[in-house]
Amino acid sequence: MKTPRIVIAHGDGIGPEIMSATLNILESARAHLAFDTIEIGQKVYERGINNGIEDSSWEKLIENQIFLKAPITTPQGGGFKSLNVTVRKTLGLYANVRPCQTYDPFVKTKHPKMDLVIVRENEEDLYAGIEHRQTDEVFQCLKFITRPGCEKIVRYAFEFAKRAGRKKVTCFSKDNIMKMTDGLFHKVFNEIGAEYPNIEKDHFIVDIGAARLADTPEIFDVLVMPNLYGDILSDVAAQIAGSVGLAGSSNIGERCAMFEAIHGSAPTIAGQNVANPSGLILSAVQMLVHMGQGKVATDIHNAWLKTLEDGIHTPDVFKEGVSTKRVGTREFSKAVTERLGEIPSKLKAVTYKNEEPIRLIYKRKTTQVADKKLVGVDIFIQEDNRNPEDLARRLKYAIRNSPFDLQMISNRGLKVYPNGMKETFCTDHWRCRLMVQNGGLTNNGVIWTLMRELSLTNIDVIKTENLYLFDGEKGFSLGQGQ
Ligand code: NAD
Repeated sequence: MKTPRIVIAHGDGIGPEIMSATLNILESARAHLAFDTIEIGQKVYERGINNGIEDSSWEKLIENQIFLKAPITTPQGGGFKSLNVTVRKTLGLYANVRPCQTYDPFVKTKHPKMDLVIVRENEEDLYAGIEHRQTDEVFQCLKFITRPGCEKIVRYAFEFAKRAGRKKVTCFSKDNIMKMTDGLFHKVFNEIGAEYPNIEKDHFIVDIGAARLADTPEIFDVLVMPNLYGDILSDVAAQIAGSVGLAGSSNIGERCAMFEAIHGSAPTIAGQNVANPSGLILSAVQMLVHMGQGKVATDIHNAWLKTLEDGIHTPDVFKEGVSTKRVGTREFSKAVTERLGEIPSKLKAVTYKNEEPIRLIYKRKTTQVADKKLVGVDIFIQEDNRNPEDLARRLKYAIRNSPFDLQMISNRGLKVYPNGMKETFCTDHWRCRLMVQNGGLTNNGVIWTLMRELSLTNIDVIKTENLYLFDGEKGFSLGQGQ
């Protein structure tokens, strides 16, 4: 059989040390792999490439499809794009899978029974990076949640749970506030969850869910959540499990996949042979499982567990009375290679099968095309006079010959006209909801006519948002206070 080629990148800071420790173990365990190396990160950024990766590297990634990546240092200051976000989105790596497990009593933790996996949506949410300054006082960041994005990640979470023999999938969202975006995530969770009758399902609003995760993580099994919550909570989960240095992750797409430790390049400890390579080693284990090399993955993971329970620890997890030997990065790696073929006696041993990866190809359903009717427009206005009654009077006069009625004005989402209260703090950014008087509009030309007329007044429109009904259902939220 042809040896599968993967792409590796040694990264920055502690990256080269932990990569070399990991490669040493892969080689000793006879993983069936060949390597193509690419350069990413600091040196590439310094050459003026603002996303930290050369064009030629994309060809290797697309050809080989599997990427084992060491952490990089992200340069400070504006003008640079996150390499991670770029790679995840370009290669369509929609699922970020982060197992967080404790290794009690060998690694200190307050939560000895914790063993969970966070499946984080990886491409959407506030990470589109579409931000604008709209007025003197107001800045905006757009949050995108899509039906395909929700369906892909939720289905992946259930398929992952099924494959791993896990019993429960929990959804975190904030749909008590974001009823449309997070509401869609929760709705899709319920829809797809119904197809998995043998897996228990539950849902938490993310704030109380986060509190429970930090306090009693043992009640969770697999968790699925939108990008931002997953980003934050997977670090919390890794930290309370014992150390961010212990957690690996996979980023899974329809064709490509990337594997990396969850921590960064830890520049302050770089080059000192003290970094814990475990995060990258466990990422490589996830990679081997994904590639169908379950036997080698099992050998490496069990040898790693045996090393940990033998008390051979890097400084970040070393504890007097528990650890037996304080070792550096290289010595830890050597200790793992020496234990290949052994299984842990106190920590639970793992067994991975040689099987095909979970490969979900998203197919769009044509039934999702709704009957869409334009019924109004929200216009966003910069206005320094903080009296909404004045603004309403001027606006009503300006739209008097149009088919629109002013329904309400809100400031930071709270309705301030009609019937606002003087106590409400207002900024210079107003959302004015104009609805058409008689049903709907056949096209949005009338909105542009209105905008042209408004541009001749001193009303400063800084953005518009069309208001649609989809199959008769409102495609827009009501203002708070409505
Ligand atoms: P970090 O994860 O690098 O370090 C946080 C703390 O954990 C530090 O005290 C560090 O010494 C310690 N630590 C991290 N990994 C360790 C390990 N393997 N062994 C022992 N101790 C370890 O986070 P940071 O300091 O916020 O970021 C440093 C750089 O890494 C920044 O440039 C950041 O942008 C980048 N970063 C990269 C990635 C990535 O490439 N995936 C992820 C996060 C941060």
